Amino acid sequence: MKINRLPKDDKTNGWSAILPERQPKPSVQRDTSADWIVLGAGYAGLAAARRLAENCPDQRIVLIEAGHAGENASGRNSGFGIDLPHNVGSSLDELEGSHRFMRLARMAIDHLEESVQRHGIECDWTRDGKYHTAVSPRGTKDVLEPFVKELDALKEPFTWIEGDALRAKLGSDHFTAAVYTPGCVLMNPAALTRGLADNLPENVTLFENSPVTSAVFENGVQFTTPGGTVRASRLIMAANGFSEQFGFFPRRFLHLVAHASLSRRLTKAEQSAYGVDAAWGLTPVNAFAGITMRYTNDNRILIRQGLSYCPGQRVSVAEQAAVKRRHKALFDQRFPMLPEVEMEHTWSGIVCLSRNGAPGFGQLAPNIWSAVCQNAVGVTKGTFGGILAADMATGRDNPLIADMQSLGEPELLPHRPFLDLGVRARFQWELWTNRHEA
Ligand SMILES: Cc1cc2nc3c(=O)[nH]c(=O)nc-3n(C[C@H](O)[C@H](O)[C@H](O)COP(=O)(O)OP(=O)(O)OC[C@H]3O[C@@H](n4cnc5c(N)ncnc54)[C@H](O)[C@@H]3O)c2cc1C
Repeated sequence: MKINRLPKDDKTNGWSAILPERQPKPSVQRDTSADWIVLGAGYAGLAAARRLAENCPDQRIVLIEAGHAGENASGRNSGFGIDLPHNVGSSLDELEGSHRFMRLARMAIDHLEESVQRHGIECDWTRDGKYHTAVSPRGTKDVLEPFVKELDALKEPFTWIEGDALRAKLGSDHFTAAVYTPGCVLMNPAALTRGLADNLPENVTLFENSPVTSAVFENGVQFTTPGGTVRASRLIMAANGFSEQFGFFPRRFLHLVAHASLSRRLTKAEQSAYGVDAAWGLTPVNAFAGITMRYTNDNRILIRQGLSYCPGQRVSVAEQAAVKRRHKALFDQRFPMLPEVEMEHTWSGIVCLSRNGAPGFGQLAPNIWSAVCQNAVGVTKGTFGGILAADMATGRDNPLIADMQSLGEPELLPHRPFLDLGVRARFQWELWTNRHEA
């Protein structure tokens, strides 16, 4: 089977641009074999490879990555390790679903934190929490007020914050109210994925710059890369939306593009004009119209805004230039005291969603397991998906596998072009009906 669409790294990721240069691991340079292949070195693949190595210390695991580890969606994201579901819901079923998600997400955060500490990964990992934030009184009433009731029902700690107190935390008048929850982790996601990739167990070999261009699934798995083939008896598929190219999950995935910008560092004078000392992260009450933002420990401001349908998994240079202008305008609206601050880096990343929010998790064939489709919450979902796929594949008893399976399976999507029309119309509708949250 020929792999028709490969990931493409346009080298625009701002999180890696602010880090020192990294030497990638060698590419595949000759035919090789192993006990296991893990495909894709994002959160899911990195977690799966690490866990396989732990479960099977005498076996050899090969982790294959088309570009540089983490430089697809994983190192390009906003750097929120989310521990709470976005939509909680108040029925008993929904609350139980939330408890299951929290168990999984917190296991993933603990796993990542353990790696960060054990390997001294410098990725600015902080348990800063996050502000779930409404721009309009309507967003406050429709989303934040029900959210606090649900947090109460879950017995989760939170702080309601509004007015001058919120302004003092975020340094902007743009917001009406927020619910602060303490469990979210903030980090530089590229520094985290690099650190994970550079500290894999000894029985894992990571090949970077090794796009798999064809695949054979007979007598095990055989992947061809430009430098040679890699064979193994078993596979964990962690190529997220690109897993479709290998014949898995046909018509189950929606590919979206999300855009982000990182400002340059504020000067000392700008920091005083801004008037906020502590780093923070905020998520919007509406993911389509709203903006995710952060103030980082090195005094930069991140804007993550714009989510659109992208079935070709490619973004044009013209689109990125337009995004950069839009992000600067949004920045100016929120931080008028910082008129000279430019967006130093603007980039885009491809995310994979399913119609019903379910992951592409589980056993796909007698010798193939998967941890894909993280529904845009991949720091935690990719990590727990990877760990649990490895546990399932090696028969390690883990009660969290049942929690994972309870998240369901991706639903079938309509045929194109009906799908395209439907998704585009839905996005326009979401933007229009939630314009008060822009
Ligand atoms: C701008 C933006 C902001 C986001 N913010 C957040 C956030 O704050 N928190 C959060 O949790 N999530 C966030 N997300 C989503 C999150 O980044 C993704 O859900 C997550 O990275 C998916 O991880 P993954 O390991 O499944 O996939 P990926 O990171 O996409 O990894 C899959 C890997 O497979 C490789 N691959 C694919 N095909 C091949 C092939 N043929 N050969 C070899 N290798 C191949 C790719 O190169 C890639 O590295 C954001 C995403 C974007 C774009």
